[in-house]
Amino acid sequence: MKIIRSVGKAQKLSTQLHLAGKIIGFVPTMGYLHRGHLSLIKTARKKSDVVFVSIFVNPLQFGPNEDYTCYPRNFKRDEKLCRQEGVDCIFYPEVKELYPEGYSTYVNVDKITEILEGKIRPGHFKGVATVVLKLFNIIRPHFAVFGQKDAQQACVIKKMTEDLNLDLKIIVNPTVREQDGLAMSSRNVYLNTMQREDAFVLYKALKFAEKQIKVEQKIDLNSLKKQMFSLVKSKSTVTKIDYISFNNNRNLEPVESVKKIRKSEELLISLAVRFGNIRLIDNIVIKY
Ligand code: AMP
Repeated sequence: MKIIRSVGKAQKLSTQLHLAGKIIGFVPTMGYLHRGHLSLIKTARKKSDVVFVSIFVNPLQFGPNEDYTCYPRNFKRDEKLCRQEGVDCIFYPEVKELYPEGYSTYVNVDKITEILEGKIRPGHFKGVATVVLKLFNIIRPHFAVFGQKDAQQACVIKKMTEDLNLDLKIIVNPTVREQDGLAMSSRNVYLNTMQREDAFVLYKALKFAEKQIKVEQKIDLNSLKKQMFSLVKSKSTVTKIDYISFNNNRNLEPVESVKKIRKSEELLISLAVRFGNIRLIDNIVIKY
């Protein structure tokens, strides 16, 4: 397994692989890998000749009061896990390698970045889209694998790929969960024992909504949302609910009534909840 730290070397390797007719699969991550990331790597492994994983905590996607400096990092452990999964190359650049002094070009995907996570975290998706496009240009994969865990991110990347005519396929893998249903996340390590016990309420609220929608086809989504709020707020370590939202999973348009969802469309139910300084997100998708 190669570990590449420079843009030039990664581009050179990619060119050689393209010339040799190899299929390149790519999994972008911020490291501190868990089973969620590994599921994306497994998908890439199955579908490609060469698997690239990037490990880069992207400062551009963190707000000034967010956890960039204390975001968990452990490259040695990540390296071992990548080796075990049969990764061929880790791209592990330093910040100045991707953003040298004087860097001034950014990617902005309009509209769908103004709601949900984008509304709470201004500038977040500009940072995500910029780094992902840079990584796509450096590695030039035939496909890249993302997680449904970050549903809005997946939509933004798909939109950017379509709008900018990028020549690659975006694959979205299902969310991998802990036994109690908590979505795996690098940020889960911040949770103390009580917060960890309460954190499964995110999934519980989502499953509750899914069940209610399936039982009562004309359900009022506003009152369902209120019930979800109560359920989440019943946990003593929950300090704030940033949002609970119903959206069309394709274009993220808000869904006010289940009657408006057409056949073969998907309803995205998502939420963001704070436990003190720790902010967790989760979602489920209902297919129609
Ligand atoms: P991150 O390292 O948090 O930037 O995540 C890198 C990729 O892993 C993103 O595409 C995430 O959506 C995906 N991911 C994170 N957590 C999970 C999970 N629990 N299940 C599946 N994919 C995940």
